[in-house]
Amino acid sequence: MKIFNTLTHKVEEFVPNVPGKVNMYTCGPTVYHYAHIGNLRTYIMEDVLEKYMRYTGLDVKRVMNITDVGHLTSDGDTGDDKMLKGAKREHKTVMEIAKFYTDAFFDDCKKLNIKTPDVVAPATGCIGEFIKVISALIEKGYAYEAGGNIYFDTSKLKEYYVFHSFNEEDLEVGVREGVEEDTNKRNKADFVLWFTKSKFDDQELKWDSPWGVGYPGWHIECSCISMKNLGEYLDIHCGGVDNIFPHHTNEIAQSEAFLGHKWCNYWFHVHHLNTNDGKMSKSKGEFLTVSLLESKGYDPLVYRFFCLQSHYRKSLMFTWENLDNAKTAFDKLISKIAALENESDKGAVDEECLENVLKARFKEQMDSDINTANGLTVLYDVLRANASAATKLAAIEDFDRVFSLDLIAKAKKAAQEQKDSAADIPKEVMALVEERKAARKAKDFAKADELRDKITSLGYAVKETRQGTEITKI
Ligand code: AMP
Ligand code: ZN
Repeated sequence: MKIFNTLTHKVEEFVPNVPGKVNMYTCGPTVYHYAHIGNLRTYIMEDVLEKYMRYTGLDVKRVMNITDVGHLTSDGDTGDDKMLKGAKREHKTVMEIAKFYTDAFFDDCKKLNIKTPDVVAPATGCIGEFIKVISALIEKGYAYEAGGNIYFDTSKLKEYYVFHSFNEEDLEVGVREGVEEDTNKRNKADFVLWFTKSKFDDQELKWDSPWGVGYPGWHIECSCISMKNLGEYLDIHCGGVDNIFPHHTNEIAQSEAFLGHKWCNYWFHVHHLNTNDGKMSKSKGEFLTVSLLESKGYDPLVYRFFCLQSHYRKSLMFTWENLDNAKTAFDKLISKIAALENESDKGAVDEECLENVLKARFKEQMDSDINTANGLTVLYDVLRANASAATKLAAIEDFDRVFSLDLIAKAKKAAQEQKDSAADIPKEVMALVEERKAARKAKDFAKADELRDKITSLGYAVKETRQGTEITKI
């Protein structure tokens, strides 16, 4: 399997540290509000990556954090505390907010068939670990105390900007207009590991530490939660592209300074879902959530299908029209699979064709940097293939272990509905339909038209589709 590695800027063969086993880490949500469907694009594509790894036989252990402390409104060390903002907005405690939106996040994931990682760890549950790692960083000379806070000293590293070569002068993380620069920092790129001199006098969550009562910076949680659960060597780390800098850059800085060796080999980043009108931002009133899609009558899996239609390394434009197009394509796909389900003689599974033709094509696409867009087109190849219905259905079920679109269950339901609606049609109409089919077969189109008129006069419409004859009540 080949994937694009943000660290090397290349598509590379994926080789885990221990053959057959994968240690995978995912940056989890900041639980101060509902996840927007942009966030969920990232989790859908990471879910596909995990499931495809499992599909190829790899034994994956995946760990995710929940950010319930320390994330400021900028990704650097400025702005308000996001959790505190959420709590104030809803007149609740930070922990109430965290619980509510963590549950909401997993409800959304369930609706989108996103598997829950093997380990899910809230940052507030690992404070002891953070203190241990920060203490070691101070001891090794990688961190310093200034103005009451503990900072990571980026000048101590051979290379800090591991993902890109930034110009120091261009670095404006968290330094926005109207926000004062932190004069405690020795270097512009230094970042907070532990806050004691809080800008937020009303900070609810505080812990005792060797440096005074305070709370952790945002980045330390991912390093610590990963190392605690997955050990010193991480195979793959995932997130959205906005996480590359400063978050993942800082994670690498502190983890490798602590460990004294390379930490993670592959970095997988999902590009953003965008809108024309900024509806993706959680800070703006009505933003795009799974519940909003549902309230407008969309099945959440239509959104999953929409995401799979594009490569994860391309930014994706969300419009209602684009979602409608995805819905139409998804419904058509289901009805084609339903037609296979309704075939009276499905035949036997041709193992040779299934393994060496159909699955091989699917693997070829997915091995090529998780190309879900092409992977989905293999489904259409399957539908057109010169193979029995049983073989086709077996291939679709197999690919859906990765796509997770409930293709077979939905098709079975649609097939039953097709049958039920056929059962409602009076015998007299069905007899005319059969007669018309025979006339068409005999190329007697005048008679076929005459029969169609008779059927219409009895209150039914008859139409030929690629799935066969469709009869509906007028
Ligand atoms: P957050 O809850 O802000 O910590 O973000 C959760 C995840 O969503 C992170 O992996 C982000 O990189 C990712 N993310 C944020 N905005 C978008 C977006 N518009 N499209 C895709 N992923 C995003
Ligand atoms: Zn993280």
